[in-house]
Amino acid sequence: MMARQRAKARGRGSPEEKQRRVLEVIRILVRTYPGVTLALNFTTPLELLIALILAAQCTDERVNQVTANLFRKYRTPQAWAGADRAVLEEEIRSTGFFRNKAKAIQECCRTIVTRFEGRVPRALEDLLILPGVGRKTANILRGNAYGAPAIGVDTHVARLAERLGLSAETDPDKIELDLNGLVPDKEKVRFCHLLQTHGRGICLARRPNCPACPINQLCPYPVAAAIPLTLTR
Ligand code: SF4
Repeated sequence: MMARQRAKARGRGSPEEKQRRVLEVIRILVRTYPGVTLALNFTTPLELLIALILAAQCTDERVNQVTANLFRKYRTPQAWAGADRAVLEEEIRSTGFFRNKAKAIQECCRTIVTRFEGRVPRALEDLLILPGVGRKTANILRGNAYGAPAIGVDTHVARLAERLGLSAETDPDKIELDLNGLVPDKEKVRFCHLLQTHGRGICLARRPNCPACPINQLCPYPVAAAIPLTLTR
């Protein structure tokens, strides 16, 4: 069976059955990863926006190292927008793709100043106006900085949604739509954190450790992939 067909097969089941499974997945993963939260450090929506731009193709740990100093130096969108480009590039060089990221940060901050009176907007449609900000970044920002019930579909959320049979889609926007219909509003942000943490530790992209996975009895992937399970619960 092709990967797409396997994903479709795993995605069978009623919405009610999937909603029940989502709640059970959350219950177990909350116990497995107590207190899980966003790994990026920030204290304001602007800081989170900058951190999310820097986090592309970079580890959260590295971003946190870099932003520890930067957030003391640049405190407003005006300060970021007015920074010397060459200096800023040097300051963020270790996060990779530093030229593109410096440009994105400054264009974003300029738009925040000119269109949103210097405040990072809350609404999804407004955030999407910011240069380089897509739905993933906008939803992670809304969920974590403003407490909105938002699902930010990154690579881990997308992979686990597919393996868990919650979405047969590959387009992140469609995965977001599927998950929005299955995850209760009050759990949406935490659900993403749980899947990201699980995706980094156990449900790895290339070799998911299904035998050691605490939610393997709720996941159709091992059966579909014919991976033998040793129950750990
Ligand atoms: S059982 Fe395997 S595929 Fe399913 S969530 Fe666990 S590690 Fe991932």
